Amino acid sequence: MGAPGNKIAVHDVAAGDAETVASVRSQREATPLYVSRIKVHPARIAGTFRRIKWAILALCLTVYYVAPWLRWDRGPNAPHQALLIDLPGRRAYFFWLEIWPQEIYYLTGLLILAAIGLFLVTSLLGRVWCGYACPQTVWTDLFMQVERLIEGDRNARIRLDRAPPSLSKLAKRAAKHSAWLVIAAATGGAWVLYFQDAPTALGRIFSGQAAVGTYFFIGLFTATTYTLAGWAREQVCTYMCPWPRFQSAMLDDESLIVTYEAWRGEPRGKLKGGTKDEKLGDCIDCMKCVAVCPTGIDIRDGQQLECIGCGLCIDACNTVMPMIGRPNNLIAFDTLANQAAEAAGGKAVYRPIRSRTIIYAAVLLLVAGIMVAGLATRSQIGVDVLHERSPLFVLLSGGNIRNGYTVRILNKSHVTKSFDLRIDGLDDYAVTAVGADQTGDKTHPLVLETPPDGVETFRIYVTTSGAALARNKEKKMEGQMQETPIAFGVADHGAGESVSHGSFFIAPALASEEH
Ligand code: SF4
Ligand code: SF4
Repeated sequence: MGAPGNKIAVHDVAAGDAETVASVRSQREATPLYVSRIKVHPARIAGTFRRIKWAILALCLTVYYVAPWLRWDRGPNAPHQALLIDLPGRRAYFFWLEIWPQEIYYLTGLLILAAIGLFLVTSLLGRVWCGYACPQTVWTDLFMQVERLIEGDRNARIRLDRAPPSLSKLAKRAAKHSAWLVIAAATGGAWVLYFQDAPTALGRIFSGQAAVGTYFFIGLFTATTYTLAGWAREQVCTYMCPWPRFQSAMLDDESLIVTYEAWRGEPRGKLKGGTKDEKLGDCIDCMKCVAVCPTGIDIRDGQQLECIGCGLCIDACNTVMPMIGRPNNLIAFDTLANQAAEAAGGKAVYRPIRSRTIIYAAVLLLVAGIMVAGLATRSQIGVDVLHERSPLFVLLSGGNIRNGYTVRILNKSHVTKSFDLRIDGLDDYAVTAVGADQTGDKTHPLVLETPPDGVETFRIYVTTSGAALARNKEKKMEGQMQETPIAFGVADHGAGESVSHGSFFIAPALASEEH
Protein backbone atom coordinates (compact mmCIF):
# COMPACT_ATOMS: atom_id res chain seq x y z
CA MET A 1 0.00 0.00 0.00
CA GLY A 2 1.13 3.53 -0.59
CA ALA A 3 2.31 5.79 2.19
CA PRO A 4 -0.53 8.14 3.11
CA GLY A 5 1.38 9.88 5.81
CA ASN A 6 3.28 12.27 3.61
CA LYS A 7 3.18 15.14 6.06
CA ILE A 8 4.40 17.77 3.59
CA ALA A 9 1.34 19.36 2.07
CA VAL A 10 1.39 21.44 -1.08
CA HIS A 11 0.37 24.59 0.78
CA ASP A 12 3.57 24.26 2.85
CA VAL A 13 5.63 25.15 -0.17
CA ALA A 14 3.28 27.62 -1.82
CA ALA A 15 5.59 30.48 -0.89
CA GLY A 16 7.81 29.38 -3.71
CA ASP A 17 10.97 28.82 -1.75
CA ALA A 18 13.00 26.98 -4.39
CA GLU A 19 15.06 25.12 -1.85
CA THR A 20 12.01 23.85 0.01
CA VAL A 21 10.32 22.85 -3.22
CA ALA A 22 13.37 20.83 -4.22
CA SER A 23 13.48 19.21 -0.81
CA VAL A 24 9.80 18.26 -0.94
CA ARG A 25 10.20 16.89 -4.45
CA SER A 26 13.13 14.74 -3.46
CA GLN A 27 11.24 13.42 -0.44
CA ARG A 28 8.23 12.59 -2.59
CA GLU A 29 10.39 10.89 -5.14
CA ALA A 30 12.03 8.94 -2.36
CA THR A 31 8.65 7.63 -1.15
CA PRO A 32 8.06 4.24 -2.74
CA LEU A 33 4.71 3.42 -4.28
CA TYR A 34 4.35 0.51 -1.90
CA VAL A 35 5.48 0.37 1.71
CA SER A 36 4.88 -2.55 4.05
CA ARG A 37 2.62 -1.93 6.99
CA ILE A 38 4.44 -1.00 10.16
CA LYS A 39 2.54 -2.90 12.82
CA VAL A 40 0.98 -0.68 15.47
CA HIS A 41 1.03 -1.85 19.09
CA PRO A 42 -1.19 0.62 20.95
CA ALA A 43 -0.55 0.78 24.70
CA ARG A 44 -3.24 0.59 27.34
CA ILE A 45 -4.28 3.98 28.69
CA ALA A 46 -6.83 5.13 31.24
CA GLY A 47 -8.55 8.48 31.24
CA THR A 48 -11.67 10.41 30.38
CA PHE A 49 -11.70 9.69 26.65
CA ARG A 50 -10.90 6.02 27.19
CA ARG A 51 -13.88 5.78 29.55
CA ILE A 52 -16.11 7.49 26.98
CA LYS A 53 -14.85 5.05 24.35
CA TRP A 54 -15.61 2.07 26.61
CA ALA A 55 -19.11 3.38 27.29
CA ILE A 56 -19.88 3.92 23.58
CA LEU A 57 -18.33 0.57 22.67
CA ALA A 58 -20.53 -1.20 25.25
CA LEU A 59 -23.61 0.67 24.01
CA CYS A 60 -22.93 -0.08 20.33
CA LEU A 61 -22.24 -3.77 20.93
CA THR A 62 -25.29 -4.13 23.17
CA VAL A 63 -27.53 -2.49 20.58
CA TYR A 64 -26.09 -4.63 17.77
CA TYR A 65 -26.39 -7.98 19.56
CA VAL A 66 -29.65 -7.34 21.42
CA ALA A 67 -31.69 -5.47 18.78
CA PRO A 68 -32.79 -8.58 16.79
CA TRP A 69 -34.23 -10.04 20.01
CA LEU A 70 -36.55 -7.10 20.71
CA ARG A 71 -40.18 -8.03 20.15
CA TRP A 72 -42.96 -5.77 18.89
CA ASP A 73 -46.61 -6.77 18.88
CA ARG A 74 -48.06 -5.98 15.44
CA GLY A 75 -51.17 -8.08 15.96
CA PRO A 76 -52.05 -11.26 14.07
CA ASN A 77 -50.55 -12.13 10.67
CA ALA A 78 -47.44 -10.03 11.20
CA PRO A 79 -43.93 -10.76 12.49
CA HIS A 80 -43.27 -9.80 16.09
CA GLN A 81 -39.65 -8.81 15.66
CA ALA A 82 -39.07 -5.09 16.29
CA LEU A 83 -36.30 -4.79 13.67
CA LEU A 84 -36.68 -7.10 10.72
CA ILE A 85 -35.78 -6.95 7.05
CA ASP A 86 -38.01 -9.63 5.57
CA LEU A 87 -36.49 -10.18 2.12
CA PRO A 88 -38.83 -13.03 1.01
CA GLY A 89 -41.86 -11.01 2.16
CA ARG A 90 -40.30 -7.87 0.63
CA ARG A 91 -40.96 -5.85 3.75
CA ALA A 92 -38.87 -3.99 6.34
CA TYR A 93 -40.11 -3.56 9.91
CA PHE A 94 -38.83 -0.86 12.27
CA PHE A 95 -40.87 -1.03 15.44
CA TRP A 96 -44.23 0.53 14.47
CA LEU A 97 -43.14 1.24 10.90
CA GLU A 98 -43.63 -1.21 8.06
CA ILE A 99 -41.88 -0.27 4.84
CA TRP A 100 -43.18 -1.78 1.61
CA PRO A 101 -41.03 -2.12 -1.53
CA GLN A 102 -42.79 0.86 -3.14
CA GLU A 103 -41.84 2.95 -0.09
CA ILE A 104 -38.12 2.30 -0.40
CA TYR A 105 -37.64 6.06 -0.63
CA TYR A 106 -38.03 6.16 3.19
CA LEU A 107 -34.79 4.18 3.44
CA THR A 108 -33.20 6.59 0.99
CA GLY A 109 -34.41 9.41 3.24
CA LEU A 110 -32.86 7.68 6.26
CA LEU A 111 -29.51 7.40 4.46
CA ILE A 112 -29.68 11.08 3.52
CA LEU A 113 -30.47 11.94 7.15
CA ALA A 114 -27.50 9.85 8.35
CA ALA A 115 -25.16 11.51 5.83
CA ILE A 116 -26.23 15.06 6.70
CA GLY A 117 -26.17 14.21 10.42
CA LEU A 118 -22.59 13.05 9.97
CA PHE A 119 -21.71 16.30 8.15
CA LEU A 120 -23.19 18.31 11.02
CA VAL A 121 -21.46 16.31 13.75
CA THR A 122 -18.14 16.48 11.89
CA SER A 123 -18.33 20.23 11.45
CA LEU A 124 -19.06 20.58 15.19
CA LEU A 125 -16.92 17.89 16.78
CA GLY A 126 -14.50 16.66 14.13
CA ARG A 127 -14.10 12.93 13.57
CA VAL A 128 -15.94 11.70 16.65
CA TRP A 129 -17.85 9.22 14.52
CA CYS A 130 -14.54 7.66 13.38
CA GLY A 131 -13.02 7.70 16.85
CA TYR A 132 -15.97 6.43 18.84
CA ALA A 133 -18.92 4.92 17.02
CA CYS A 134 -17.81 3.62 13.60
CA PRO A 135 -18.20 -0.19 13.55
CA GLN A 136 -14.59 -0.51 12.35
CA THR A 137 -13.40 1.40 15.44
CA VAL A 138 -15.72 -0.43 17.84
CA TRP A 139 -14.76 -3.93 16.69
CA THR A 140 -11.07 -3.08 16.34
CA ASP A 141 -11.10 -1.72 19.89
CA LEU A 142 -12.76 -4.92 21.09
CA PHE A 143 -10.25 -7.10 19.25
CA MET A 144 -7.34 -5.04 20.65
CA GLN A 145 -8.66 -5.49 24.17
CA VAL A 146 -8.84 -9.25 23.67
CA GLU A 147 -5.30 -9.16 22.31
CA ARG A 148 -4.13 -7.18 25.35
CA LEU A 149 -5.77 -9.64 27.74
CA ILE A 150 -4.07 -12.62 26.09
CA GLU A 151 -0.72 -11.27 24.93
CA GLY A 152 -0.18 -8.39 27.34
CA ASP A 153 0.30 -4.67 26.86
CA ARG A 154 2.36 -2.91 24.17
CA ASN A 155 5.88 -3.93 25.29
CA ALA A 156 4.89 -7.54 25.95
CA ARG A 157 3.32 -7.75 22.49
CA ILE A 158 6.36 -6.24 20.80
CA ARG A 159 8.56 -8.77 22.65
CA LEU A 160 6.23 -11.60 21.66
CA ASP A 161 6.34 -10.54 18.00
CA ARG A 162 10.13 -10.60 18.06
CA ALA A 163 10.42 -13.82 20.05
CA PRO A 164 11.38 -17.02 18.19
CA PRO A 165 8.66 -19.67 17.76
CA SER A 166 7.84 -21.48 21.00
CA LEU A 167 4.97 -23.40 22.54
CA SER A 168 4.01 -20.45 24.72
CA LYS A 169 3.97 -18.08 21.72
CA LEU A 170 1.93 -20.58 19.71
CA ALA A 171 -0.53 -21.02 22.59
CA LYS A 172 -1.02 -17.25 22.97
CA ARG A 173 -1.48 -16.76 19.25
CA ALA A 174 -3.94 -19.67 19.05
CA ALA A 175 -5.92 -18.33 22.01
CA LYS A 176 -6.05 -14.82 20.51
CA HIS A 177 -7.16 -15.92 17.05
CA SER A 178 -9.71 -18.35 18.50
CA ALA A 179 -11.21 -15.57 20.61
CA TRP A 180 -11.26 -13.26 17.61
CA LEU A 181 -12.98 -15.91 15.52
CA VAL A 182 -15.63 -16.51 18.19
CA ILE A 183 -16.40 -12.75 18.31
CA ALA A 184 -16.38 -12.57 14.50
CA ALA A 185 -18.76 -15.54 14.26
CA ALA A 186 -21.06 -13.98 16.85
CA THR A 187 -21.01 -10.79 14.78
CA GLY A 188 -21.85 -12.61 11.56
CA GLY A 189 -24.46 -14.71 13.39
CA ALA A 190 -26.14 -11.62 14.83
CA TRP A 191 -26.22 -9.98 11.39
CA VAL A 192 -28.39 -12.70 9.81
CA LEU A 193 -30.85 -12.42 12.73
CA TYR A 194 -31.91 -9.02 11.39
CA PHE A 195 -33.25 -10.83 8.31
CA GLN A 196 -35.16 -13.67 9.97
CA ASP A 197 -37.17 -14.32 13.12
CA ALA A 198 -34.27 -14.39 15.60
CA PRO A 199 -35.33 -17.22 17.98
CA THR A 200 -36.37 -19.48 15.10
CA ALA A 201 -33.27 -18.69 13.05
CA LEU A 202 -30.90 -19.31 15.98
CA GLY A 203 -32.43 -22.74 16.59
CA ARG A 204 -32.10 -23.62 12.91
CA ILE A 205 -28.51 -22.37 12.70
CA PHE A 206 -27.36 -24.52 15.62
CA SER A 207 -29.34 -27.58 14.52
CA GLY A 208 -27.94 -27.38 10.99
CA GLN A 209 -31.38 -26.70 9.48
CA ALA A 210 -30.81 -23.14 8.31
CA ALA A 211 -30.68 -22.30 4.62
CA VAL A 212 -27.35 -22.48 2.80
CA GLY A 213 -27.53 -18.72 2.25
CA THR A 214 -27.72 -18.15 6.02
CA TYR A 215 -24.50 -20.10 6.61
CA PHE A 216 -22.89 -18.33 3.65
CA PHE A 217 -23.61 -14.87 5.08
CA ILE A 218 -22.53 -15.90 8.58
CA GLY A 219 -19.26 -17.12 7.05
CA LEU A 220 -18.87 -13.96 4.98
CA PHE A 221 -19.40 -11.63 7.95
CA THR A 222 -17.24 -13.77 10.20
CA ALA A 223 -14.39 -13.54 7.67
CA THR A 224 -14.75 -9.80 7.12
CA THR A 225 -14.99 -9.02 10.85
CA TYR A 226 -11.96 -11.18 11.64
CA THR A 227 -9.93 -9.69 8.78
CA LEU A 228 -10.90 -6.04 9.19
CA ALA A 229 -10.85 -5.83 13.00
CA GLY A 230 -8.07 -8.34 13.65
CA TRP A 231 -5.64 -7.81 10.80
CA ALA A 232 -6.41 -4.69 8.77
CA ARG A 233 -7.33 -2.41 11.72
CA GLU A 234 -6.12 1.17 11.15
CA GLN A 235 -5.42 0.38 7.49
CA VAL A 236 -9.18 0.34 6.87
CA CYS A 237 -9.41 3.95 8.09
CA THR A 238 -6.24 5.03 6.32
CA TYR A 239 -6.56 3.29 2.96
CA MET A 240 -10.03 1.82 2.45
CA CYS A 241 -12.52 4.27 3.92
CA PRO A 242 -13.41 7.26 1.72
CA TRP A 243 -14.65 9.34 4.66
CA PRO A 244 -11.25 10.72 5.81
CA ARG A 245 -10.66 11.94 2.25
CA PHE A 246 -13.63 14.25 2.09
CA GLN A 247 -14.37 14.97 5.75
CA SER A 248 -11.90 17.85 5.59
CA ALA A 249 -14.55 19.64 3.49
CA MET A 250 -16.80 19.63 6.59
CA LEU A 251 -14.14 20.93 8.95
CA ASP A 252 -13.12 24.51 9.45
CA ASP A 253 -10.97 26.41 11.94
CA GLU A 254 -13.83 26.35 14.41
CA SER A 255 -14.48 22.60 14.45
CA LEU A 256 -13.40 20.78 17.60
CA ILE A 257 -10.53 18.45 16.73
CA VAL A 258 -7.63 16.81 18.55
CA THR A 259 -4.82 19.37 18.58
CA TYR A 260 -1.34 19.67 20.03
CA GLU A 261 -0.59 23.02 21.67
CA ALA A 262 2.73 23.50 19.95
CA TRP A 263 2.90 27.07 21.23
CA ARG A 264 3.42 25.75 24.76
CA GLY A 265 4.84 22.30 24.02
CA GLU A 266 7.77 23.43 21.87
CA PRO A 267 10.69 23.35 21.94
CA ARG A 268 10.25 19.87 23.25
CA GLY A 269 12.98 18.18 25.25
CA LYS A 270 13.47 15.18 27.50
CA LEU A 271 13.80 15.44 31.27
CA LYS A 272 17.39 15.64 32.42
CA GLY A 273 18.07 13.82 35.68
CA GLY A 274 14.33 13.69 36.25
CA THR A 275 13.93 17.47 36.06
CA LYS A 276 12.62 19.73 33.38
CA ASP A 277 14.75 22.32 31.67
CA GLU A 278 12.76 25.51 32.17
CA LYS A 279 13.95 26.90 28.86
CA LEU A 280 12.10 24.13 27.04
CA GLY A 281 8.39 23.80 26.31
CA ASP A 282 5.99 21.53 28.19
CA CYS A 283 6.45 18.49 25.94
CA ILE A 284 9.06 16.17 27.45
CA ASP A 285 9.14 14.03 24.30
CA CYS A 286 8.15 10.92 26.26
CA MET A 287 6.30 9.53 23.20
CA LYS A 288 3.44 8.29 25.39
CA CYS A 289 0.92 9.98 23.07
CA VAL A 290 2.38 8.04 20.14
CA ALA A 291 2.48 4.75 22.05
CA VAL A 292 -1.28 4.80 22.78
CA CYS A 293 -2.36 5.94 19.32
CA PRO A 294 -4.38 3.20 17.56
CA THR A 295 -3.19 4.46 14.18
CA GLY A 296 0.44 4.88 15.26
CA ILE A 297 0.83 8.57 14.44
CA ASP A 298 2.37 11.49 16.28
CA ILE A 299 -0.25 14.21 16.81
CA ARG A 300 2.57 16.70 17.38
CA ASP A 301 3.17 16.60 13.62
CA GLY A 302 -0.14 18.42 13.12
CA GLN A 303 -3.43 17.35 11.55
CA GLN A 304 -3.17 14.08 9.69
CA LEU A 305 -5.49 11.98 7.60
CA GLU A 306 -4.77 8.97 9.86
CA CYS A 307 -6.02 10.69 13.03
CA ILE A 308 -9.46 9.29 13.89
CA GLY A 309 -9.99 11.82 16.70
CA CYS A 310 -10.24 9.20 19.45
CA GLY A 311 -8.60 11.43 22.07
CA LEU A 312 -6.48 8.66 23.61
CA CYS A 313 -3.35 10.78 23.12
CA ILE A 314 -5.06 13.42 25.28
CA ASP A 315 -5.51 10.85 28.06
CA ALA A 316 -1.87 9.80 27.65
CA CYS A 317 -0.46 13.30 27.85
CA ASN A 318 -2.74 14.15 30.76
CA THR A 319 -1.04 11.42 32.78
CA VAL A 320 2.32 13.10 32.05
CA MET A 321 1.56 16.78 32.64
CA PRO A 322 0.69 16.48 36.36
CA MET A 323 3.96 14.58 36.93
CA ILE A 324 6.01 17.51 35.67
CA GLY A 325 3.81 20.13 37.28
CA ARG A 326 2.35 21.48 34.03
CA PRO A 327 -1.33 22.10 33.25
CA ASN A 328 -3.28 19.35 31.54
CA ASN A 329 -4.39 19.38 27.92
CA LEU A 330 -1.15 19.99 26.09
CA ILE A 331 -3.03 17.80 23.63
CA ALA A 332 -6.70 18.73 23.66
CA PHE A 333 -10.00 18.75 21.81
CA ASP A 334 -9.86 22.32 20.62
CA THR A 335 -10.40 24.49 17.57
CA LEU A 336 -7.58 25.65 15.33
CA ALA A 337 -8.94 29.19 15.80
CA ASN A 338 -8.49 28.92 19.57
CA GLN A 339 -5.04 27.38 19.16
CA ALA A 340 -3.96 30.33 17.03
CA ALA A 341 -5.53 32.80 19.48
CA GLU A 342 -3.87 31.15 22.49
CA ALA A 343 -0.52 31.13 20.72
CA ALA A 344 -0.95 34.89 20.38
CA GLY A 345 -1.85 35.20 24.06
CA GLY A 346 -5.62 35.46 23.57
CA LYS A 347 -8.61 33.14 23.59
CA ALA A 348 -11.22 32.31 20.96
CA VAL A 349 -14.78 31.45 21.93
CA TYR A 350 -16.09 28.18 20.50
CA ARG A 351 -18.94 28.97 18.11
CA PRO A 352 -21.10 25.92 17.38
CA ILE A 353 -23.60 28.11 15.51
CA ARG A 354 -21.98 29.26 12.27
CA SER A 355 -23.00 29.34 8.63
CA ARG A 356 -22.02 25.75 7.73
CA THR A 357 -23.62 24.21 10.83
CA ILE A 358 -26.77 26.28 10.26
CA ILE A 359 -26.97 25.00 6.66
CA TYR A 360 -26.41 21.36 7.70
CA ALA A 361 -28.97 21.67 10.52
CA ALA A 362 -31.51 23.33 8.20
CA VAL A 363 -31.16 20.60 5.55
CA LEU A 364 -31.35 17.95 8.27
CA LEU A 365 -34.57 19.43 9.66
CA LEU A 366 -36.03 19.82 6.18
CA VAL A 367 -35.39 16.18 5.22
CA ALA A 368 -36.57 14.97 8.65
CA GLY A 369 -39.72 17.11 8.32
CA ILE A 370 -40.49 15.72 4.86
CA MET A 371 -40.05 12.18 6.13
CA VAL A 372 -42.20 12.71 9.22
CA ALA A 373 -44.94 14.35 7.12
CA GLY A 374 -44.73 11.50 4.60
CA LEU A 375 -44.99 8.89 7.36
CA ALA A 376 -47.82 10.68 9.13
CA THR A 377 -49.93 10.85 5.97
CA ARG A 378 -49.01 7.51 4.41
CA SER A 379 -51.95 5.41 3.33
CA GLN A 380 -52.73 1.90 4.57
CA ILE A 381 -54.22 0.99 1.21
CA GLY A 382 -53.19 1.31 -2.41
CA VAL A 383 -54.65 0.59 -5.84
CA ASP A 384 -53.07 -0.07 -9.19
CA VAL A 385 -55.04 -0.38 -12.46
CA LEU A 386 -54.00 -1.77 -15.82
CA HIS A 387 -56.32 -1.57 -18.86
CA GLU A 388 -56.52 -4.80 -20.84
CA ARG A 389 -54.71 -4.53 -24.16
CA SER A 390 -56.57 -7.15 -26.06
CA PRO A 391 -59.39 -6.64 -26.70
CA LEU A 392 -59.42 -2.90 -25.97
CA PHE A 393 -63.23 -3.01 -25.77
CA VAL A 394 -66.11 -5.40 -26.42
CA LEU A 395 -69.30 -4.25 -28.07
CA LEU A 396 -72.13 -6.17 -26.35
CA SER A 397 -75.29 -7.39 -28.11
CA GLY A 398 -77.48 -4.77 -26.42
CA GLY A 399 -75.24 -1.95 -27.69
CA ASN A 400 -73.35 -1.37 -24.45
CA ILE A 401 -69.55 -1.36 -24.40
CA ARG A 402 -67.37 -3.31 -21.97
CA ASN A 403 -63.71 -2.72 -21.00
CA GLY A 404 -61.56 -5.10 -18.97
CA TYR A 405 -59.01 -4.11 -16.32
CA THR A 406 -56.58 -5.76 -13.96
CA VAL A 407 -56.95 -4.08 -10.56
CA ARG A 408 -54.48 -4.71 -7.73
CA ILE A 409 -55.53 -3.63 -4.25
CA LEU A 410 -52.89 -3.29 -1.57
CA ASN A 411 -53.91 -3.93 2.04
CA LYS A 412 -51.10 -2.89 4.39
CA SER A 413 -53.06 -3.66 7.56
CA HIS A 414 -52.82 -6.98 9.41
CA VAL A 415 -56.51 -7.87 9.05
CA THR A 416 -58.66 -8.89 6.11
CA LYS A 417 -60.40 -5.85 4.67
CA SER A 418 -63.39 -5.15 2.45
CA PHE A 419 -63.08 -2.32 -0.02
CA ASP A 420 -65.76 -0.44 -1.97
CA LEU A 421 -64.86 -0.05 -5.63
CA ARG A 422 -66.42 2.82 -7.56
CA ILE A 423 -65.81 4.22 -11.03
CA ASP A 424 -65.54 7.98 -11.28
CA GLY A 425 -66.11 9.68 -14.65
CA LEU A 426 -69.15 7.61 -15.72
CA ASP A 427 -72.62 8.49 -14.47
CA ASP A 428 -74.04 5.13 -15.47
CA TYR A 429 -72.10 1.88 -15.39
CA ALA A 430 -71.99 -1.70 -14.13
CA VAL A 431 -68.85 -3.17 -12.64
CA THR A 432 -68.16 -6.85 -12.01
CA ALA A 433 -65.21 -8.89 -10.85
CA VAL A 434 -64.43 -12.26 -12.43
CA GLY A 435 -65.37 -14.93 -9.91
CA ALA A 436 -67.55 -12.63 -7.80
CA ASP A 437 -71.33 -13.07 -7.68
CA GLN A 438 -72.26 -9.41 -7.29
CA THR A 439 -72.37 -6.38 -9.53
CA GLY A 440 -71.64 -2.80 -8.58
CA ASP A 441 -73.06 0.36 -10.10
CA LYS A 442 -73.26 4.10 -9.51
CA THR A 443 -75.27 3.71 -6.29
CA HIS A 444 -73.99 0.34 -5.03
CA PRO A 445 -70.23 -0.14 -4.98
CA LEU A 446 -68.66 -3.46 -5.83
CA VAL A 447 -67.27 -4.90 -2.59
CA LEU A 448 -63.89 -6.60 -2.85
CA GLU A 449 -62.10 -8.43 -0.06
CA THR A 450 -58.32 -8.47 0.31
CA PRO A 451 -56.20 -10.58 2.66
CA PRO A 452 -54.13 -8.96 5.42
CA ASP A 453 -50.70 -7.58 4.66
CA GLY A 454 -50.87 -8.36 0.99
CA VAL A 455 -51.91 -7.50 -2.53
CA GLU A 456 -54.98 -9.04 -4.21
CA THR A 457 -55.38 -8.97 -7.98
CA PHE A 458 -58.87 -8.75 -9.53
CA ARG A 459 -60.04 -8.98 -13.14
CA ILE A 460 -62.66 -6.26 -13.44
CA TYR A 461 -65.20 -5.53 -16.22
CA VAL A 462 -66.75 -2.08 -16.54
CA THR A 463 -69.80 -1.84 -18.80
CA THR A 464 -71.44 1.40 -19.87
CA SER A 465 -73.53 2.91 -22.64
CA GLY A 466 -72.59 5.25 -25.44
CA ALA A 467 -74.92 7.86 -23.90
CA ALA A 468 -73.05 7.77 -20.58
CA LEU A 469 -69.78 8.18 -22.43
CA ALA A 470 -71.18 11.11 -24.40
CA ARG A 471 -71.98 12.92 -21.16
CA ASN A 472 -68.29 12.85 -20.08
CA LYS A 473 -66.90 16.21 -21.24
CA GLU A 474 -63.27 15.12 -21.10
CA LYS A 475 -63.46 12.35 -23.67
CA LYS A 476 -61.19 12.64 -26.65
CA MET A 477 -60.80 10.96 -30.01
CA GLU A 478 -57.83 8.71 -30.75
CA GLY A 479 -58.14 7.68 -34.43
CA GLN A 480 -61.26 5.52 -34.75
CA MET A 481 -61.61 5.21 -31.00
CA GLN A 482 -62.78 7.40 -28.19
CA GLU A 483 -60.93 7.55 -24.89
CA THR A 484 -62.86 8.64 -21.80
CA PRO A 485 -60.88 9.37 -18.61
CA ILE A 486 -62.17 7.49 -15.59
CA ALA A 487 -60.81 6.69 -12.11
CA PHE A 488 -61.05 3.60 -9.93
CA GLY A 489 -61.84 4.70 -6.40
CA VAL A 490 -61.17 2.24 -3.58
CA ALA A 491 -62.50 3.02 -0.11
CA ASP A 492 -61.83 1.15 3.11
CA HIS A 493 -65.17 0.03 4.57
CA GLY A 494 -64.17 0.52 8.18
CA ALA A 495 -61.41 3.16 8.37
CA GLY A 496 -62.93 5.57 5.84
CA GLU A 497 -59.62 5.85 4.00
CA SER A 498 -59.75 5.96 0.21
CA VAL A 499 -57.39 6.03 -2.76
CA SER A 500 -57.95 6.23 -6.48
CA HIS A 501 -56.10 5.41 -9.66
CA GLY A 502 -56.74 7.05 -13.01
CA SER A 503 -57.43 5.02 -16.16
CA PHE A 504 -59.54 5.35 -19.30
CA PHE A 505 -62.52 3.71 -21.00
CA ILE A 506 -62.17 2.90 -24.69
CA ALA A 507 -65.10 2.81 -27.06
CA PRO A 508 -65.61 2.89 -30.83
CA ALA A 509 -65.81 6.44 -32.19
CA LEU A 510 -69.53 6.45 -32.87
CA ALA A 511 -70.57 4.73 -29.66
CA SER A 512 -71.43 7.96 -27.86
CA GLU A 513 -73.58 9.17 -30.74
CA GLU A 514 -75.66 6.00 -30.95
CA HIS A 515 -77.45 6.27 -27.57
S1 SF4 B 1 -3.43 11.11 17.19
FE1 SF4 B 1 -4.59 10.97 19.10
S2 SF4 B 1 -6.71 11.35 18.50
FE2 SF4 B 1 -5.56 10.91 16.64
S3 SF4 B 1 -5.85 8.72 16.34
FE3 SF4 B 1 -3.94 8.98 17.48
S4 SF4 B 1 -4.55 8.81 19.62
FE4 SF4 B 1 -6.40 9.13 18.47
S1 SF4 C 1 2.56 12.57 25.82
FE1 SF4 C 1 2.64 14.79 26.00
S2 SF4 C 1 4.65 15.15 26.84
FE2 SF4 C 1 4.71 13.09 26.06
S3 SF4 C 1 5.46 13.30 23.97
FE3 SF4 C 1 3.25 13.37 23.86
S4 SF4 C 1 2.79 15.55 23.91
FE4 SF4 C 1 4.89 15.33 24.67
